[in-house]
Amino acid sequence: MSEYQRRRTAVVSVGGVKVGSPYPIVVQSMTNTDTADVNATAAQVRALHQAGSELVRVTVNNEAAAQAVPDIVAQVDVPVIGDFHYNGHLLLTKYPACARALAKYRINPGNVGAKRRDEHFRTIIEVALANDRPVRIGVNWGSLDQQLLTELMDANAHRPEPLDARDVMIEAMLASALRSAELAEECGLPHDRIILSAKVSGVQDLVEVYRRLAQLSDYPRHLGLTEAGMGAKGIIASAAGLAILLQDGIGDTIRVSLTPRPGGDRTEEVQVAQQILQSLGLRSFTPQVSACPGCGRTTSTFFQEMAEQIQTHLREQLPRWRERYAGVETLRVAVMGCVVNGPGESKHADIGISLPGTFEEPKAPVYVDGKLKVTLKGDTIVADFLKVLEEYIESRFGAGALLVNRPL
Ligand code: SF4
Repeated sequence: MSEYQRRRTAVVSVGGVKVGSPYPIVVQSMTNTDTADVNATAAQVRALHQAGSELVRVTVNNEAAAQAVPDIVAQVDVPVIGDFHYNGHLLLTKYPACARALAKYRINPGNVGAKRRDEHFRTIIEVALANDRPVRIGVNWGSLDQQLLTELMDANAHRPEPLDARDVMIEAMLASALRSAELAEECGLPHDRIILSAKVSGVQDLVEVYRRLAQLSDYPRHLGLTEAGMGAKGIIASAAGLAILLQDGIGDTIRVSLTPRPGGDRTEEVQVAQQILQSLGLRSFTPQVSACPGCGRTTSTFFQEMAEQIQTHLREQLPRWRERYAGVETLRVAVMGCVVNGPGESKHADIGISLPGTFEEPKAPVYVDGKLKVTLKGDTIVADFLKVLEEYIESRFGAGALLVNRPL
């Protein structure tokens, strides 16, 4: 039996998307276009949404961005969140159409102003109240409330056994998030309109911060490793940190903060977030392919080419399948390189093919629901397998399958 048990939290509605423990963990992302560029930003919001992002955040950093927000929101079909730093209190009051168009406001307590911090914070909460909007209190260690950190550092220096600087930093992050949430509630914002995050860039720090946050409050938690980085490093560090916490039942919405390569695909962060959730068995987004890595038994490119053709077909067909076949995203396919693990792994999948390794007889047994269905031979193994795959999908997820399962 799975050890997974989600921690109970309140439920916050963000533009109709429910964030909280009884609901599926929500995938979100953030644009990197200039928000003032309406068409470019709307196009990227749509691309992120199409890739599977259920909430999309845009930075609202200046007046031009605030003015652009209503036009962006009018062009998209996903809740848009505004990310505010330094001047959120000014922009949200000066541009009420922006405040109305956004589904949620992200406030960074470290960036709401040093001298009149609470006053600026209150102003944003009042706008949220007037527009019936939730907020995310998003603490980030790169922009931690310096006044609070200094206070805690001073208090720590007077302890008989002072904590080390890392522990004080974690204390400060938690205090910043929780004091801000308390202040928001004092201003009248209901408990179920607050989401918390406390992001750091180190995996062990992230795990500690969120585990403690989960002990201290039941606000839904937005999870993410901040400044995760580029490529494999960013993906692996995010997966490592998020997986530990998600397995602990912590995390109600996630974002993977990857740095794209110049000209790279921004939607990669959505695919990674989805894959983390699906790898943990928490949600299903796309058919999963188990493919062996290949070894000396597959010295030719024959196996790699076949595996790639099958994976490409799955990826290309998915949008069409999703429309016709409810539940197809739970499909498990195995593409294996030889007889050593091929038949066994294929039997564990819904449908699997064990391709011939080097020097093996050029035949490929196909297993469906754990049983040998057919053995393919010749030059058309891939095309023949894809045909068997399509038939399987139709029989398991098609309208006929629904009829079979329907009560008379
Ligand atoms: S299944 Fe065969 S080809 Fe694939 S890694 Fe294992 S031994 Fe190598």
